[in-house]
Amino acid sequence: MRNLSNKNIIHIEKDGISYIQFRKLLEYDYIAHGYTVGLDNNMRTTTSKGKNVNYENGMHKFHLLCNYLGIDFNDCYKASLNHTDNVCVVDTRDNLPMFEVLPDKNDGILTNISNINLITTSSDCITFFLFDKEKNVIANVHSGWRGTYNGILINALKKMHEYFGCNYRDIMIFICPAIRDCHFEVNFDVFDLFSQKYGYMGNIITKNEDKWNIDTILINKILASDLGIREDNIYDSQLCTVCNSDVINSLRAHGKDFNLNAGIIGIKGKTKCLKKN
Ligand SMILES: [Zn+2]
Repeated sequence: MRNLSNKNIIHIEKDGISYIQFRKLLEYDYIAHGYTVGLDNNMRTTTSKGKNVNYENGMHKFHLLCNYLGIDFNDCYKASLNHTDNVCVVDTRDNLPMFEVLPDKNDGILTNISNINLITTSSDCITFFLFDKEKNVIANVHSGWRGTYNGILINALKKMHEYFGCNYRDIMIFICPAIRDCHFEVNFDVFDLFSQKYGYMGNIITKNEDKWNIDTILINKILASDLGIREDNIYDSQLCTVCNSDVINSLRAHGKDFNLNAGIIGIKGKTKCLKKN
């Protein structure tokens, strides 16, 4: 497979699965993380149609990923992924279903507990990993255009601040592969929504004949910056899923039978950082 490594990410190929990791996040050996790439890696394990021929394959891939990341498959929890702007805190392992979607509709999950590995899946939508090494808090946020329009990243950052006392200056943001302004072309209705809400930002929309291209990554970067996130704490994979659809699953590029990529982040157990103050 074509190697996707760049200054911010490293592309790992293992037997049966491949994924990218952020070089910066690898500096913290108690953090497990990865974002799957490869067209033969379909991380779909649920379906709205009740029947999923990919279920076993998806579960097999998740087992492989967990093995390579050194985490327990039974300690994985998925966001429910409904294109909401809801974020939820996982502050106990009690009564959580193993490898099931979390109760209630949410697209962002946060925790400061070790061995609770947070999963989102996507195909063009943005996956953000958030990490505050001072307060030892992680988040996994799924943000399609609706999530970006409604500000789910900001909701997650605010929750880290309000619930865990994180200082915005300490929070790092990692931007996984997603559809970029080069390919995120929309009709008037979506353009109009973004124009009215974020038009003040200036350079987020490009007109292209009777369509518009919107830079949802830039919108999120500006919103985060306005909240107090440091620019040098934002680590961007710089990968467009459509531009790289020969090696990354993409809804726009591959159509209705699209496969899913998965992002996972967790705090490994038994580190000094996990003690309560
Ligand atoms: Zn592109």
